[in-house]
Amino acid sequence: METYKMYINGEWVVSSERKLIDVKNPATDEIIARVQSASKEDVQRATKAARTSFDSGIWSRMPPGERSNILSKVANLLEQNMDTFVNIEMKNTGKSIKQVSGYDIPYTIDNIKFICGASRIMEGKAMAEYVSDGTSAVRREPIGAVGIITPWNYPLMMIIWRAFPAIATGNSVVVKPASYTPLTAIKLAELLEKAGVPKGVFNVITGPGSSVGEELAKSKDLEMIAFTGSTEVGKRLSELGASNLKKVSLELGGKAPFIVFKDANIDAAVESAIVGGLVNNGQDCANSTRYYIHESIFDEFVSKLKNRLSKLRIGDPESMDTDMGPLISQSQRERVESYIERGKNEGGNILLGGDRPSIKGHEHGYYINPAVIYTENENSAIVKEEIFGPVFTVLKFKDYEDVIRRSNDVTYGLGSSVWTSNITTAMRATRDLRFGTVWVNEHVVVPSEMPWAGYKQSGHGASLSAYSLEEFTYIKHVYFDLTGKVRKDWYSQIFKG
Ligand code: NAP
Repeated sequence: METYKMYINGEWVVSSERKLIDVKNPATDEIIARVQSASKEDVQRATKAARTSFDSGIWSRMPPGERSNILSKVANLLEQNMDTFVNIEMKNTGKSIKQVSGYDIPYTIDNIKFICGASRIMEGKAMAEYVSDGTSAVRREPIGAVGIITPWNYPLMMIIWRAFPAIATGNSVVVKPASYTPLTAIKLAELLEKAGVPKGVFNVITGPGSSVGEELAKSKDLEMIAFTGSTEVGKRLSELGASNLKKVSLELGGKAPFIVFKDANIDAAVESAIVGGLVNNGQDCANSTRYYIHESIFDEFVSKLKNRLSKLRIGDPESMDTDMGPLISQSQRERVESYIERGKNEGGNILLGGDRPSIKGHEHGYYINPAVIYTENENSAIVKEEIFGPVFTVLKFKDYEDVIRRSNDVTYGLGSSVWTSNITTAMRATRDLRFGTVWVNEHVVVPSEMPWAGYKQSGHGASLSAYSLEEFTYIKHVYFDLTGKVRKDWYSQIFKG
């Protein structure tokens, strides 16, 4: 079994305390690798390396095109090493091979290519004379040394979404991946090393969020933390980052509504409801979770949903026949089960699933059958809180105002979708839903060119799109005097005459 090292200042190192963490395969509960548990001293070495490399200018002052050329090589190397990355990501997350090989890794490569291209055309305002006799311009400059903390649900992709806009714009980073899924982050560092990224620009350290993550958030070497994860930890990082007023960019949880009006194509909505709810084994921040169905089509929709779900193939992630694998961990499965129990106790009616399947050869995997729960209790935890598992909460609605109000009445604001054949209803809903994304007759499509951003407690950063690059820059006003005069007219507010 392989023991992975950390990548600090261009060197492969072990923890100064010689502590290791087991990494498991959630489909079998077997240990598949070990990684280092970074000490406080290791974290400080990594932040210092990022700071020093940034201050040296070797990367931050490199022309964007040159940086982009180096980083583009990472996309090529990832393509060449696709099988290795697919295999590691699948074994470490329990996602189906269909998803990892057909979507996660190819899409991540596209994300890198987009970021590399977009980083060459970062724009400020055009130079112009906003006051007479003076020309103004805006420069965009990297922030400095940045800490990147990522979740386990898309281990490689979430690092690319945060670390690549950061380094493409000239920052240096210290990446801390989630402890359940640190392996592809470390493999990624190998690719950056091969591509020729200078030492200290990209560092990867591993270890618990409660110690390593908090140390990053407190570090005085870092000027920014980019975090993707739960709202609860996002709040904690905001507090810790305040010690040196770090910029804290947050991409947090979600509780997406999926609204089906009576004029919708019901079959298309049911197909999408399944994918929207189950993509990533139900552990996606954009998963559809609250299904608001017009009362006149409720029975038909739910009956078709149950019928399709009961044919789902849950099993070995390594088989191309598998539609859905296990959850990430035993504690995640228990969390999902406890929500199903709460939903029941708070007046919900379980229409399907929610129990544990027995999968031959995978008896110790963290599997669960997707649950469909009908509730009329709008205040139930299954309606208001992020479950992060395959739980379909189905609810009825009567009219437009009612469903929009209920859809917006959560603390989150990430993804949402509306199903209708009426253009006016669709346009109104895209205006009225307070979410960072509104899909019409679709759910979970996120092109590399478009922003992925939250409203309310889903955070306030932006991933993907040109906005993700701006996130990692300061804006600087540069002013040129055009007069050459010793005493300009406006100095009269100090000088007489
Ligand atoms: P999490 O528990 O918040 O952990 C995320 C990362 O933060 C992990 O690396 C974790 O380290 C670290 N961490 C935990 N406690 C910390 C602390 N006190 N200080 C600093 N770092 C700390 O989230 P998760 O369970 O991994 O991921 C699921 C969440 O991510 C969901 O809420 C989901 O909606 C959200 N998510 C959002 C987006 C988006 O784009 N908005 C995308 C993906 C996921 P350890 O692993 O060592 O605990």
